[in-house]
Amino acid sequence: MNRSADAVAILHADAPKVMDAINAFTAQTFRTRGGRLGSGMGSLLEALWVYHMNNVLANEGGLARKCELAWLPDHEPADFACLYRGAEWEPQGRHGELFRIEAKSMNVGVDEAKGHFTNLAKETAGHDQLLVLIWSWENLENGYSWPRIHDYFLGPSLPIIEVRDQLHLARGGTFVTGSACPDGCTRKACTHDGEPLNAAGKRERRSGPKSCKPANVEYAANFGGLVRMLKTDNGAARAIFRGLRKKDDIIHAYISFIHRHFPSEEVNQFKKIEWQAALKALGINAVNPTAAAANELLRKHVSDYQDRLRSLF
Ligand SMILES: [Zn+2]
Repeated sequence: MNRSADAVAILHADAPKVMDAINAFTAQTFRTRGGRLGSGMGSLLEALWVYHMNNVLANEGGLARKCELAWLPDHEPADFACLYRGAEWEPQGRHGELFRIEAKSMNVGVDEAKGHFTNLAKETAGHDQLLVLIWSWENLENGYSWPRIHDYFLGPSLPIIEVRDQLHLARGGTFVTGSACPDGCTRKACTHDGEPLNAAGKRERRSGPKSCKPANVEYAANFGGLVRMLKTDNGAARAIFRGLRKKDDIIHAYISFIHRHFPSEEVNQFKKIEWQAALKALGINAVNPTAAAANELLRKHVSDYQDRLRSLF
């Protein structure tokens, strides 16, 4: 019996309840005039997620009641750990932990989402999860608004890391290998193994090799953008994207989640003739529609159109 897998399943089952509870709370409490994007509200919503999840867990029976979420210290990868309630906890060796969660939030009103998921495969265990909250300011009468969570993704991190890393390579990026570190470290002393470098050889995380630091900034900061990581700009990258989507249900779920909330990303993923072919295959008539118009038609008329895109292309 795998306790980590059981605990993950409990959190997944409780997650819709938690989203409703947060929205009920914020609709009452954070009702305010105005609303800015750089408000820190996303971080607050992530914190509320932990608080409400702990409430829900404490009020259940069985294993759920034995689980609690805790904040990880700053230097640990990931934000939260799911622990055995009351157990000895030693984060460095993950003792007392069932799994970890990296939490991100995105405001759906913002074109280029700022959230980055940059955890490396070597920092991630099989049951570790990625949580992404999508929210926006919901307008009320008289210029008031409140921060509403519209949707969330909660799933294992490793498949997301796989698609992120494969598309990073397809973009001409690389990963440092300990035996050939640009800093010239000895293999034993090197801490840079697996660090991403962009196509220009510049480091993408602060912890990357010193000699790969871009001018004027600490690191390039494009790696792992929650939306950007899925972008493809050539046929080879597109083939990798589609192959991974076909192969892995989690990758498909993440792609579908991001594309649901960022329609132009979905439109750009397929060529116009592919959109038209999809319409035809799904029995929708339209005269030479643009890619965007075809996408809109599918959203409107075919509830599982993303599953159909997965199997068509
Ligand atoms: Zn090194």
